Amino acid sequence: MTVGDDTDLVTRAEFEPTKTSPPTTLTQAYRYALDPTPDQANLLRSHIGATRFAYNALLGLVKVNWDENRTRKETGEDVAKEDYLGTSHFDLQRLWYERRAELAPWWGENNSSSYNYACLNLSKAFANWRRGQARFPTFKRRGSKATVSLMPGAVKLTDSHHVRISRVGVVKSYESTRKMHRHLERDTGRILSATVSEVGGKFFISFTLEVVRSIPATRAPEKVIGVDVGISTLYTGATPNGEQVLMVENPRHFVRAEKRLAHTQRVASRRQGPGPGQAPSKRWRKANSRVQKIHAEIANSRKNLINETTTRLAKNYDLIVIEDLNVTGILKNHSLAKHISDAAWGEFRRQLEYKTTWYGSALIIADRFYASSKTCSHCGAVKAKLSLDERMFHCEACGLTIDRDVNAAINLARLGLPGTSSGTGRGGEVRPEHQILNATAHPDEASTETLTLVSA
Ligand SMILES: [Zn+2]
Repeated sequence: MTVGDDTDLVTRAEFEPTKTSPPTTLTQAYRYALDPTPDQANLLRSHIGATRFAYNALLGLVKVNWDENRTRKETGEDVAKEDYLGTSHFDLQRLWYERRAELAPWWGENNSSSYNYACLNLSKAFANWRRGQARFPTFKRRGSKATVSLMPGAVKLTDSHHVRISRVGVVKSYESTRKMHRHLERDTGRILSATVSEVGGKFFISFTLEVVRSIPATRAPEKVIGVDVGISTLYTGATPNGEQVLMVENPRHFVRAEKRLAHTQRVASRRQGPGPGQAPSKRWRKANSRVQKIHAEIANSRKNLINETTTRLAKNYDLIVIEDLNVTGILKNHSLAKHISDAAWGEFRRQLEYKTTWYGSALIIADRFYASSKTCSHCGAVKAKLSLDERMFHCEACGLTIDRDVNAAINLARLGLPGTSSGTGRGGEVRPEHQILNATAHPDEASTETLTLVSA
């Protein structure tokens, strides 16, 4: 044991194996790419447009009403409280109901979810403004975040490859929805919400499900792995005794796609984008939609890779030790790479957090001040400096020469061994039963497979 005697930064989680664990209710998100027919795509766009329309129409009515009342007040008239249009969800729903025939004679073409969620979102926007958390609600422009939420009753999985959406029909999904379908069939899952979004010309549906699941009892740690997160080698894993057991390279197509993205972003930036009182040019829209498409592509393949890696880790190891984001050393790279790797790191950690809970393993996040890269995994000597481009670690004290990432991974793995205890209390301790029970995430962030859990 070379690590921990005087570094003392991390507490090993206390494990009390239990035999039974009661079923828990979790909130789980699923996201699927849809393959609508041209007609269905038009209907989906119509629903998205109807939400925006209702939102803007109601906001317009409220604004006009408030302005009129202000003018009346200024001219000395008495304005009663009842003269003001209310902005609660209920008020707005009633207002829409009263005025829809005149404002939107076509309202019946879309299912009522579109309008209901417009009312809900607008009432939330007003509430946030009242609390001082947001500016006064503004009109939504075409092309701003295009989504429509559906009421749980308006959407159904008919089998493992089709989603029935009220007023749109049975829409094919690109991916198998088997896992979610099984929950619904067995009655272990209930749809809480569903949202359809259009990103870069592709449609996605995100579900939030309430799922009943029994969490496996936590075992005492036997297999320990430390994982270093990097750029060219995305994930390097090693055991405490120095064996390298995991190496996930950054796939070349990621690197190529990222270059393509940087290029199209530069193209878009040279064209006339949206600004105050200025509509974006056609050429900008074209370039921007290309940017969005590549973004979606990269995000998707990255998520698949993260999914595979985290499942493999959580299934095969009892204790996984990773470093905190700030020590990854990626940060000095230019902003695009940083942005992408930050997002990927966050997703990697989030998936490990819930998957370790599912599989009964545990996760330790090393203290951000722990120098996993600069510490020699053989003698424990700590280097004063290690520049980012030094790919090999050379120890002046004992002469060890080892791959930099493997060295870091070994050091991390050793933090998971018994006897490394925290003297500083600066974090790093993760008790599996307390891990992330309050974590929430927007369903849009969900991976294809799963996300997030919330205790109940
Ligand atoms: Zn050494």
